[in-house]
Amino acid sequence: MSSQTIPNGLMQRAYLTPNRVAVETPQTSLTFQELHKRVQKVAQQLSFNGVKQDDTIALYMKNRVEFIEILHAVSYIGARLLLVNTRLTNEEINYQLTDANVSLLIADETFLMREFQSSITQLTLPALKSSPEAETGFQKTWNLEETFTIMYTSGTTGHPKGVLQTYGNHWWSSVGSALNLGLNEKDCWLIAVPLFHISGLSILMRSVFYGMKIILEERFEARAVNEAIENKGVTIISVVTSMLSNMLDELGERKYPHTFRCMLLGGGPAPLTILEACVNKEIPVYQTYGMTETSSQFVTLSPEDSLRKLGSAGKPLFPCAMKIVDEKGNETSEAGEIIVKGPNVTKGYLNKPEATEKALQQGWFYTGDIGKVDEEGFLYVLDRRSDLIISGGENVYPAEIENILLKHPAVKEAGVTGVADEKWGQVPAACIVTKEDVSDEELSLHMQQFLAKYKLPKYFVRVEELPRTASNKIIRRKLSSFIQKGS
Ligand code: ATP
Ligand code: MG
Repeated sequence: MSSQTIPNGLMQRAYLTPNRVAVETPQTSLTFQELHKRVQKVAQQLSFNGVKQDDTIALYMKNRVEFIEILHAVSYIGARLLLVNTRLTNEEINYQLTDANVSLLIADETFLMREFQSSITQLTLPALKSSPEAETGFQKTWNLEETFTIMYTSGTTGHPKGVLQTYGNHWWSSVGSALNLGLNEKDCWLIAVPLFHISGLSILMRSVFYGMKIILEERFEARAVNEAIENKGVTIISVVTSMLSNMLDELGERKYPHTFRCMLLGGGPAPLTILEACVNKEIPVYQTYGMTETSSQFVTLSPEDSLRKLGSAGKPLFPCAMKIVDEKGNETSEAGEIIVKGPNVTKGYLNKPEATEKALQQGWFYTGDIGKVDEEGFLYVLDRRSDLIISGGENVYPAEIENILLKHPAVKEAGVTGVADEKWGQVPAACIVTKEDVSDEELSLHMQQFLAKYKLPKYFVRVEELPRTASNKIIRRKLSSFIQKGS
């Protein structure tokens, strides 16, 4: 079988534009050539520690330059890298390490106290960095079909699944992104999202393909991020809603400079209130829809449509196709499941042939999300199929109700789920975290202004906090236990 190859990303970049800055952190700055030299060394140190071609090793590390070095070193050896979410519990991590048949785990020194799967060799970063170097061949080309990274989904709908991401997935994701957002030699992408997520990892891949500088923050901090946009030449940043809302608060009356050209907003639904606030502040927000399985963004709203189509996630990236299908799999103009096809879509889930077969049918990936495409082809993501509430035969989307709840000044966080009801089958119920006291009557009055009667929550339950995944997404299937307790 002849497979398509491209040159190894970082090697090619270090050859093409060695002196451009690859990455900047508060502590250090490295050119692509310097990064390449370090990566060669780390690859040889990994080799000393027994890492060979086709092995799977795991990385448990916060955002730091060494993360980037190890990622590329793994590609120099031709091994695979499992990226572990550092916020997971030991049990969750052990599941992933076993499932992915990991031979070596590299961990930050700060995480030493955790007890991982004892049968797996563990290496701390200082131990790796002080290892001798052993000879190893370097993989000079990337086979686009080959798996490079493994990343587990966030587990919002059930047990996380290991997503196989190939070199080709990353390459095409980067190409698709550039064809959509454009590319400028002055571009500088700020990373304040975790590198172990596809949102962060995809920026590292773009950096080598584009020859683009990144600024790496260890963690998100609104003030530092705004400062970097205002004074350090950042032109693009990837954010999720909660980050954006903190940035807006911190920004106050100030405005971003005109050189700042793109706020890529994804990861979950974006409340209209926040999008409107961005319009008022002239912030160029590109709403985007994607998932671990599509190696980052798949559908993105271009700036020329951002005002006209506020709330839409946009149209697919150039190399990608998208359809909405009904229960029988036929294309529909109504709301239905979003299915996608393209070279950035995963080839499947690790060790899960059944889940893979279910998700990938005739080349189309079934996202499990419900959306609607308008007459001009713009996608509106409504909700996850598994969270859909059917009340008296009508489809009710929790995200729509949560959005309206969040418009009320007393509501800080909201999660909506369906509960059984004798008359209607199911009715919506809301769990809320409040900023101040508010009565059910007042909330109902507020909701009635915006929503049809069948969408109004029948119960409001006050909770201390909402159940969330390690990526901070609400786990709606866990809300029902609060409602039973509270009502
Ligand atoms: P799991 O598949 O294990 O339940 P997950 O789907 O939450 O986890 P991710 O791959 O991190 O894991 O998240 C992708 C999902 O996030 C999408 O399928 C979608 O439900 C949601 N999402 C992403 N972008 C948007 C968006 N713009 N609007 C609404 N939802 C979004
Ligand atoms: Mg998912």
